[in-house]
Amino acid sequence: MTTHEYDVVVVGAGTSGCYAAATAASAGLDVVVLERKDEQEAGHIACGDALKGADEFPEAIPKSKIDAAFTNTDVDHGRFEIPQEDVVLEIPVPGELAVIDRWEYGRRIIQGAKDAGAEFHYDTVVQDVLQPNGQVEGVRGKRKDEAVEYRAPVTIDGAGSLSVLQDYADLDDATFDTNVRYSQFCSAYREIVRVEEEVPWKDALVFKPTKRAAGYLWYFPRTGTEINAGLGFQMTEQPMQLVEDLKADLRTRPEFRNAVVEDKLGAALPTRRPYDSAVAPGFMAVGDAAGHVNPTTGGGIAGAAYAGKYAAEAAIEAIGEGDVSEGALWEYNERVMDHFGARYAGLDVYNILSTAVDVDDLMGLLASLPTTKLSEALYAGTTDVGLWLKLKTAFRSLGYWDVIYTFYKAKREADRLIDHYADYPARPDDFADWQTHRDDIMDRVYVATGAEPKY
Ligand SMILES: Cc1cc2nc3c(=O)[nH]c(=O)nc-3n(C[C@H](O)[C@H](O)[C@H](O)COP(=O)(O)OP(=O)(O)OC[C@H]3O[C@@H](n4cnc5c(N)ncnc54)[C@H](O)[C@@H]3O)c2cc1C
Repeated sequence: MTTHEYDVVVVGAGTSGCYAAATAASAGLDVVVLERKDEQEAGHIACGDALKGADEFPEAIPKSKIDAAFTNTDVDHGRFEIPQEDVVLEIPVPGELAVIDRWEYGRRIIQGAKDAGAEFHYDTVVQDVLQPNGQVEGVRGKRKDEAVEYRAPVTIDGAGSLSVLQDYADLDDATFDTNVRYSQFCSAYREIVRVEEEVPWKDALVFKPTKRAAGYLWYFPRTGTEINAGLGFQMTEQPMQLVEDLKADLRTRPEFRNAVVEDKLGAALPTRRPYDSAVAPGFMAVGDAAGHVNPTTGGGIAGAAYAGKYAAEAAIEAIGEGDVSEGALWEYNERVMDHFGARYAGLDVYNILSTAVDVDDLMGLLASLPTTKLSEALYAGTTDVGLWLKLKTAFRSLGYWDVIYTFYKAKREADRLIDHYADYPARPDDFADWQTHRDDIMDRVYVATGAEPKY
């Protein structure tokens, strides 16, 4: 057994792990990133490759170092294809958008974290956490056939969806969110497809509902001729045949005639509110490992980058003070909730709603809504529909009154939830009361939407 000692151990060389490592290493801490893949494969991650907020990434890895992976910066809107209604909605997307070459981006953020001073140990599979007295003090695993142990005052879990570290750690006495089930995840699959002629929607992210509810197909143009084509479904539903369903849709689209598949990958992603707390003594979870994904779009890259930064900054301070207790790391939770956590919790209400509403009704309603309001709702978690718009929408939406009313009730609860997250506690002692009140709001969400509880 070889034992290594560092200030911070980061598990996972994805976006969250690289930004955490770069931030901590830039402050002069000794940081190691443990990655189960080999050096060549590291950074190759299942993704739709759409990047929202591309202009405002954390500085620890300067944008100039990842720019070259942004292969399409001409995208500026969503194109929602609704075959049930024979409608195509072109919806503006607020903020800067790009479609990226995800593997190239993955390699570049690893290089960025290395440039900041972090070490990378590849081929290293973490198989346990060191937790002799409640506090996490590092991890244990295998590097090729060798047993390895990494000791550090702070361990950052950036191991992605359904992280195994959280199975190994005993988190029962911590505030750390262990209320995690498959029904809060989406199973998704994507192919990189090369087409012969430039697609007519090179400036758009194309979305299309799958035949059954709670799933969608996407076509995101990395370039005019290289398309990320994929689909996913909420794991509350009966499993879809992801590969076959994607193939079936590709066959219906003339743009993909004679197309060549260059790469295939699939994975699970969280489509839930962020973890209520992602800290335990000596331990923080970031990115997918803490549910930091927009639950309506599945976008998780930007949240992962910021979570990495915030966790590392909490670690720097806590290590400097010689106190890595939950209270000392707590500011990390607050910063996540303040930046995007409250918004994602609000958006989760619409995700819950989508599991309970008939897909044809939902699509019919979407087709009749004002597109700018739809765009606000999708990204902000709330939208203020003025009276005239309400009337106009109602007039165009005759036949969807039930769904509109359910939407209205869901929106009321989503707004209530967002307000409650604005009062996220400033210390662990007040956490249980905050959670109880939040759970009351969630009960109302389930009543309002008629959905099966997923928490
Ligand atoms: C099909 C699909 C499409 C998506 N599309 C988009 C999109 O278009 N836009 C967007 O913004 N987001 C998208 N997402 C979500 C986005 O990819 C994630 O939110 C983001 O990659 C999360 O980064 P992360 O660093 O938290 O985790 P990951 O990127 O998953 O990184 C985790 C790393 O940990 C390593 N690891 C795991 N377990 C261990 C272990 N035991 N030991 C050592 N290493 C380990 C893994 O090998 C991996 O390198 C998509 C996700 C999927 C699955």
